[in-house]
Amino acid sequence: MSLKIGLEIHASLLTKTKLFCSCQAYGAKEPNTQTCPVCLGHPGSKPVLNKKALDYALKLCLALHCEISQEAIFSRKSYFYPDLAKNYQITQYEIPLGKNGNIQVSKNKIKIRRVHLEEDPGALVHVGGKSKASISLVDYNRSGLPLCEIVTEPVITSASEAREVVKQLTSILEYLEIFDIKICELKADVNCSIEQSGYTRVEIKNITGFKEIEQAVIYEIKRQENLVKKGGRIIQETRGWDSEKKETYTLRTKETEEDYGYITDTDLVPQEITKETIETLRRELPELPQQKAEKYAKKYSIDKIDAEIIAQDKHVAELFEKIIKKIDPKLTAKWFRHELLRVINLTEKTIHELNLKEEHILEILSLIKEETITEKTAKEIVENLVKKPFSPKQYIKEKGLEMKKNIYELENLCKEAVKENQNAVKDYLAGEEKSINFIIGKVMGKTKGTAKPQELKEIIKNIIHDENTQ
Ligand SMILES: [Zn+2]
Repeated sequence: MSLKIGLEIHASLLTKTKLFCSCQAYGAKEPNTQTCPVCLGHPGSKPVLNKKALDYALKLCLALHCEISQEAIFSRKSYFYPDLAKNYQITQYEIPLGKNGNIQVSKNKIKIRRVHLEEDPGALVHVGGKSKASISLVDYNRSGLPLCEIVTEPVITSASEAREVVKQLTSILEYLEIFDIKICELKADVNCSIEQSGYTRVEIKNITGFKEIEQAVIYEIKRQENLVKKGGRIIQETRGWDSEKKETYTLRTKETEEDYGYITDTDLVPQEITKETIETLRRELPELPQQKAEKYAKKYSIDKIDAEIIAQDKHVAELFEKIIKKIDPKLTAKWFRHELLRVINLTEKTIHELNLKEEHILEILSLIKEETITEKTAKEIVENLVKKPFSPKQYIKEKGLEMKKNIYELENLCKEAVKENQNAVKDYLAGEEKSINFIIGKVMGKTKGTAKPQELKEIIKNIIHDENTQ
């Protein structure tokens, strides 16, 4: 079965002021406190383009390998909705800032059709929740925030790939320092279609969160497949995503672009984008996640996937680079991917929010490298370390978690366990290989997890062998 998925992603840019006026962009404490005649659409008010927002959007175009337009030209997209005070949204239509770009996700280059700049409408607040609200209020603090719209070609072939594209794009935005996931918003419209329907396009609007995007696509594809199987017909439409029920629902049958009656915005003169501007911005581009991953893999012979995963989060990569100045990069990369990131993901926080100290991470890694602690102990430490900072070295001393290296001590503990668990020994001798794990578990308990299971296995096997061949 074949799928076609395309994304239209809106990311608000981290500027100080809005796109066409000098209102503060973020950080409002009360509704409708960061507004002015321009972003409220009062007659006679004139928009003035925020150059910083244009530079930010151009940087994104460069990072996504786009062809860049020679001018920034804005249009009015007309529609009536309470969150849009002017009854039109200033956006870019015929000529976007960037086109024909791409974004690399694992081995695939996903084609990007266009990148353009537009203003955000205000926000509707449904008092008491969307379904139960008897009134809705409008907050125009958001009205006029700079949004970058990134549109991919419908070349994505799975829900997980759609999720990865959004994740990688977010990573690039953060590397460029034009976006902050805690302050700005990122929403995706996903269009997906299946071969069985002749690729009739259904669009799901306004999904936030990587996981939600994947879930919405999985749900929608299944819905379309089931409908076709039952002999139903898929109609071209726009659907919403209910993140509580985890299902999509009909919003409206699809309007066409012509319905918006685009006209050029005569209040905004086309802004020339010179070659010099582009070159200056290009020089300012930081090392991006893809380049970083390639560098890690090449320079330190780190596993490619480990490198990509570490490089994807700017803050993780920064920590990684500090650590590998002092300790084995390969060990660090492996541990970062399999342990540190696993634990961070469980907290559902970012590394930035966790207050992890470089010296503490370094301590854990040296304890692992010197074989002072087992993997199990390292797990325990890092799981606690994300809750609050402490010195891992002190922690293992206080709790007696240094690895049991004394072979006599280990042998004695194994002998004890063998003696105490004769049933498991019998099963083992009867050919049940697995019952040795039970005995290993008992010894691990006695050592508080400070022994290596593989080592214990050898010792226990020898003990059983010796006892039964005498
Ligand atoms: Zn304003």
